[in-house]
Amino acid sequence: MEEKCPICGATSKLQFLPYKIPYFGDAMMFIAVCPSCGHRSTDVMLLSGDKESRRRRYEVEISSVDDLNIRVVRSSFGRIEIPELGVNVEPRRGEGFITTVEGVLKRVEDAVRMLSRDVNDARKKHAEQVLMQIEDIKAGNASMKLIIDDPTGNSAIISKNKIKIINHKLHRLTQIDDKNQHG
Ligand SMILES: [Zn+2]
Repeated sequence: MEEKCPICGATSKLQFLPYKIPYFGDAMMFIAVCPSCGHRSTDVMLLSGDKESRRRRYEVEISSVDDLNIRVVRSSFGRIEIPELGVNVEPRRGEGFITTVEGVLKRVEDAVRMLSRDVNDARKKHAEQVLMQIEDIKAGNASMKLIIDDPTGNSAIISKNKIKIINHKLHRLTQIDDKNQHG
């Protein structure tokens, strides 16, 4: 399979990389590296798990250093939210990944640093605050909530006991049932 580079339009070969996730199952990574400009495009698809209702919202409270090792799968349709940091990572084609909570924080740090380069003092100050907050979280001195919402069901937060999964479809059915019972 071939993939067209979103930057320069050259075609590259799409590589498939099977991936085993502990406590979860199988995933497939898709990687395309443009031979012309070097742009790297990645995505991920979950092969295991309940596919009955695809849209899922995962929430996890990160409150200790151990929690930084919780595994995070984000397909390019997954939206990441960290309310405590005021951070949203919007879905973007070619930017899927399998990482840990620490890896997500690293990406946020890099993005905040890059964005704060060409802004005014007030926004720079805000960026510095966010970076300090991340340091506190990484040291286990502060907590945060990590949320992933993916309409394709290909994103997940994987931990044996901490995750709260909010399944939109089931949630709606429950509400309908309630109405029927009362009316
Ligand atoms: Zn290219």
